[in-house]
Formats: sequence, C-alpha cells, structure tokens
Amino acid sequence: MDNTMLLSQTGSLIDALKAIRDNGKGIVFIVDKQIKVVGLLTDGDIRGHLLHGHGLEAPVRTLMNTHFAYAKNTDDPAQLIKKTTDEIKVIPIVDDESRYIDFFEFNRNIKIPVASPQLRGRELEYLVDAFLSTWISSAGVYLNKFEEGFAAFIGTKYGVATSNGTTALHLALEALGIGEGDEVIVPDLTFAATINVVLYTKATPVIVDIERDSWCIDPKAIEKAITKKTKAIIPVHLYGQPADMDAIMAIAKKHKLFVIEDAAEAHGAKYKSKTVGSIGDIGCFSFFGNKVITTGEGGMCVTNSQKLAERIRVYKDHGMSKKRRYWHAVVGYNYRMTNLQAAIGLAQLERLDEILVQHAHIEELYRTHLATSPLLEFQRNDLPNRKKITWLVSVLVKNGKRDQLIQVLKSKGIDSRPFFYPLSIMKIYKPYVHSAKISKEIAKNGINFPTTLQVTEDTVQRIRATLGELM
Ligand SMILES: *Cc1c(COP(=O)(O)O)cnc(C)c1O
Repeated sequence: MDNTMLLSQTGSLIDALKAIRDNGKGIVFIVDKQIKVVGLLTDGDIRGHLLHGHGLEAPVRTLMNTHFAYAKNTDDPAQLIKKTTDEIKVIPIVDDESRYIDFFEFNRNIKIPVASPQLRGRELEYLVDAFLSTWISSAGVYLNKFEEGFAAFIGTKYGVATSNGTTALHLALEALGIGEGDEVIVPDLTFAATINVVLYTKATPVIVDIERDSWCIDPKAIEKAITKKTKAIIPVHLYGQPADMDAIMAIAKKHKLFVIEDAAEAHGAKYKSKTVGSIGDIGCFSFFGNKVITTGEGGMCVTNSQKLAERIRVYKDHGMSKKRRYWHAVVGYNYRMTNLQAAIGLAQLERLDEILVQHAHIEELYRTHLATSPLLEFQRNDLPNRKKITWLVSVLVKNGKRDQLIQVLKSKGIDSRPFFYPLSIMKIYKPYVHSAKISKEIAKNGINFPTTLQVTEDTVQRIRATLGELM
C-alpha cells in the first residue's frame, strides 16, 4: 500500500509502526480489500499493546480501535473541525461506502503567518527548466520574459529586473543623476529602504507627513518642503494604497522634479486608469518573499523612458558599457537578478491576477466580520480615483489597544504585525524630518492581519472574539 496513512488489516504492529514513522501523523488507518476504513491505531495504542505483552508481529486486526471518529466527504470545514478533539486531531474522510478518500488534520496550535509565498503554479517547473538549461546566472529567457511580462502588466514600455526592491530604488535615483547636494522628499511612514537609498546617493532625504485617509504621502506637505535643492519625490503606495498621484505629478511638473514611485507593496493598484508604477518617471517594485508576488529576493524598475531603462541596465551591471565590454563610464553596481529568480517570477506573474483576487477575498472576509467592531478602523477602499490592492489586510486599532491585541493573538497562534515605525522617531533619520504628525498616530495604531490562504472564517471569528475580550 503506497499511502502511508493506510495499512491493510492483514498487517502487523510492526507494519503499523513503520507506516506511522513514514507518515509522521502518529496514526494509521486500517482498511480492508475495498479500502473501507475498518479501524485505526495511534502510536500510543501500539505502545500500550507492546507494554501488555503483544509482540511486533501481532496482527492489527485484533488490536485496532474499531470505534473511531471519521468524517464524510460531504462535511464542510466547520463539521470537520467539530469532529476533532484535543486528543484526536487526525480523522479519516470516507465516502458513503466507508471507503477511504483522504484525512483531515486540525492542529489548533497551527501558526497563521501574516504572509506566505504562494508557489502553486508553474514555479517549480520553470525553475527546474532554467536550472537544466544551465542559464542560472543573470542572463536567460526567463529574465527577458519576466521583464517584458511585468512591464506589460504595469503598462510601461520597459522593465529592468534587479536583485531586490531596495536596489531598484537605488538604481532609479542613480539613473536620474541624483546625488550630493540634492534633496529628495519621502513620506514619514514607509519601510526604511525608501529613505536609505537616498542616503546611499549622498543626497539629503526630506521626510514629510502623510494623509489621514490614505496613509500615503501628503501633497500639501510635499509643497511645503520644496526648496531650490529639491530634485525628486518618492511617493510610496503604502500597504497597497495608491498615493495621490494627480496632485504629486502636478507639483512635480510645476517644480521640475522627478517622481520615483515606490510600489513595492502595490503590484496592480490603480490611480484613475493607470497602474501604479507607470505614472512617475520610474516605478520600483519588490519581489521579496512576503510581497504580493515573489522571486525569493528580487525587484524591478519600470519606465516608459528608453534612456532611463538603458541607464538602469548599465548601473545594475557594474556600470559597464553595453557597447564595449569591460569599459566603464560610470561607477555601477552588481544589482542583477538571476534567471532562476526570474523563472519563479514568471510563474508568479502568470498568477498575479488570481493572487490579487484571493487577497481581495481575504480582506472581504475580515471586513464582513470585523467592520462593525468599535475597536477597528479599516484601511480606506473608497478613496476617489484610487483602486487599492490587498497586500496585507491593514487596520487601525483604537483606544491604544494595538500592542495588546498583537500579544493576545500571538498566544492564540495568530501572527500579526504592527505598522512600520515612522522614520521620524528613529535617531538616524531625525535630522531629515520636515513634517511628521499624522504618521506617528497611524504608525502607533496600525496592524497587519494575516493575509494568506490559511485564513478562514474561523480565524477571523477568533480575532473577533479577541477584540471582544479587549473591550
Ligand atoms: C519591501 C519594501 C522595499 C524593499 O524591497 P526589498 O525587496 O525588500 O529590498 C522598499 N519599499 C517598501 C515600501 C517596501 O515595502
């Protein structure tokens, strides 16, 4: 029998032990010739039989449990969960004739992570193909396909794959010629990479406040921070929410500034009819393991400018001339993505729309059950002109209960994450603060709930119950 969950009723205790060792579930189902489940044995049962003097060769038929919990293939998840207990976590699922179909395992201590990569498409197939082709370094067909495909998804002419989202941002600044003496405006609430890259170039970051409703950079705060030295703005589409791009592009036009969109958390979000990343001079994406789609580590710059795309390509490849090998006109970097990563990326890209729909459904599940909670304020999904995506379900917790909620959920095996700290409260970034107020309030109360396929109605109900306890 090649299914290690099953053992023929003609087997012995030693066969049962081997099956349990192989399946790692602590239990084996005993079946007859028609694969009808006639009994089961747990590792505890077997230990008991051996202690009572039965030999390893003793037949399971006379020793198995014949009274056991089982599920029908028509049971829904809630019924399945009800049939398990703290002692019996694994039960067989059978058809009307008692024939084995599958088993159900409910581990109440299962940890529900905030994010996890979904590698259910052709990722492995493409990865193996890239591997076998021996094109495992930073050239190959998957790189070309991934760059072209992702640029097409965003709606730009060019895509240049990079080693991660941070290097994509750094390359964007380099390609735009930003350096010492220049000022670059960034929002106070973001992941630190947004400001770090400005510091890499020796330009001066200028931190400004965010909007209360979108949690993204506030165009009014940008205007107030502009000086003669300002060269660029890096709006961040935070937690999948587009920044106010019309206002930002108008300011950029008026003051002749570059716009680099940090879209690391917003693959597929839209502002009016445009996909974010395609609106400014350069858009930057991340494919880190917890992002909407992943290549393990990876990133991409997208742009409609051929000149900028070419410059990014030169900078990411040691600054080497594309016409003359080993000739360097600028000091570049090695920020390349490998063909192996791009192979995973292409398979992820094929499923990006599907993943976005799944994430939207997960958020809907939360909204359905938690929107009425007086303790919560969901991220806005009704802002004019903006069509956010769900990266991680993002919510504000009222009455200063955020950290307590995180702690209690953790004790129940549900992971959650506080928002980023505002840059303005960290010592190394303090010298660059221009305005920061709303950002502090949002950061203090913000939480990301698990946004993976493991989230079920049961998970959300448990969060709801926890919120009730905190009131
Ligand atoms: C993840 C992230 C980055 C950096 O991307 P990496 O691929 O991790 O380097 C930059 N900005 C924002 C807003 C991010 O969330």
